[in-house]
Amino acid sequence: MGITKTDFMRGMQCRKMLWLDKHKPQMRVIPPETQARLDAGNDFGDRAMGMFGPYEEMTVYRKGTRIPDKKKMAEKTALHLQLGTPVICEAAFLYYNNYCAVDILRKTETGYDFYEVKNAPEVREQFIRDAGFQYYILQRSGVKIGRIFLVIHGPDEENPFVPVEITEEAKGLAPWINEHIWDLNRMQKQREEVETEMGEQCSCPYECWYIGYCRGETGSGTEQIRMEEL
Ligand code: SF4
Repeated sequence: MGITKTDFMRGMQCRKMLWLDKHKPQMRVIPPETQARLDAGNDFGDRAMGMFGPYEEMTVYRKGTRIPDKKKMAEKTALHLQLGTPVICEAAFLYYNNYCAVDILRKTETGYDFYEVKNAPEVREQFIRDAGFQYYILQRSGVKIGRIFLVIHGPDEENPFVPVEITEEAKGLAPWINEHIWDLNRMQKQREEVETEMGEQCSCPYECWYIGYCRGETGSGTEQIRMEEL
């Protein structure tokens, strides 16, 4: 398998973090507050699917599990793009096995706009990078993308979905993504553990779940969520 949007962001924060995700995920210790934040984000994302009215959702799970079947999701998405479905949620794309699922694709006269939903009150740099990764995969998968938006959590709880356009910034990241995506692909597959000194990257932009492991404090971690759900 290639890498996902989450893999890319984690690998860019720390290459060892991505390597551990692939080779020693049992060493993660995920704080309960992080789990709660992820759950709240999933809930906000689910509610946002209906922000443009009726939609088709592409999520397909592997039989008997809650693990997304990426190949089937990409096939279903390709079908709906052919059909010209006006609003496609969790639209999935595979490009040389690198994968992303876009929260909302909305048809326009010339192609599709896309919306990345974030349960946060403001735009953050890492959100733009997320959208940049998705744009990279979509563009290379042949989808004509017009405008790109982040949907953030506004103050009105009756209508909390606030789109903020980030087209130029997100599209401008394509060369940066291309510069790193293939190197991360190679690195995640290598057998030897990546050696990295602990530093600022251990808590910025996100607290790392392997801090105990890298400090040599824990014999084992507790994997509490599947990476496919992030
Ligand atoms: S604790 Fe720090 S060095 Fe270790 S994997 Fe996490 S970010 Fe990298």
